[in-house]
Parts: sequence; C-alpha cells; structure tokens
Amino acid sequence: MENCLFCKIIAGEIPSARVYEDDDVYAFRDINPQAPTHILVVPKKHIASIADADQASDTELAACLRAVRRIAAAEKLENGYRVVSNCGPDACQSVPHLHFHILGGRKMADSMA
Ligand code: 5GP
Ligand code: ZN
Repeated sequence: MENCLFCKIIAGEIPSARVYEDDDVYAFRDINPQAPTHILVVPKKHIASIADADQASDTELAACLRAVRRIAAAEKLENGYRVVSNCGPDACQSVPHLHFHILGGRKMADSMA
C-alpha cells in the first residue's frame, strides 16, 4: 500500500527497532512508548483495521496473536501485559494499518478508556 507508514516500515524503507518477524507478521518498538515495554505487532498484509478483518486470512490474523504471545514471553512480561488495537476515529487510531499494541512492564490503569 503506497503512502502507508507501517507498510514502509515493514519494507525497511523507514527504520524501526524490530523485535520479531515471520512470514505474516512484523513487530517493532513504538517510537513514543507509553510503558516500559511498548511494541507494535502488525500483519505484513495491509489492512486498515479490525473493521477490515474480512480482507485478511484466518492465518494472517491468527499469526498476529501468536506473535503477541511469543513476544510477551521473549520480553519476560510474566506479570502480565495489555493488548490494544485502536479501530477508527472514536478509538483515536492514528495509523490506518492494523496493529496490536503490547504494553507491559508496569501496572496498567484500571480503566480501559
Ligand atoms: P494508533 O494511535 O494508531 O493506535 O497507534 C499508532 C502508534 O504508532 C502510536 O503509538 C505511535 O507512537 C506509533 N508510531 C507512529 N509513527 C511511528 C514510527 O515512525 N515508528 C514507530 N516505531 N512507531 C510509530
Ligand atoms: Zn500498510
């Protein structure tokens, strides 16, 4: 997808701090971390958000969650972590390429909002 920031990161056209990669998934550290560990897990196939999940295969979608588990284990987030995927304007999604935030290394706020 032209002019998509995360597609450019996946392609290596924009540098990133990679933490994990497989056939379907790329994961890298968020440039503006909101927790001691803040990693973005993205499918290599461009889809805008969960709202477009029907445009990705079950394999591609499941690969994201399996990557979350692997990364959390590698990052030693034994005490827990939060997984967030902002979808659309009401959720303040700022990059329209599906991504899952992994937030960990501190106690999260009780509120989901
Ligand atoms: P969203 O607001 O769409 O849920 O999350 C987008 C995330 O992408 C934000 O947490 C933001 O800090 C991160 N981000 C934006 N631009 C870049 C970038 O160029 N590199 C990296 N590593 N993260 C970015
Ligand atoms: Zn993209």
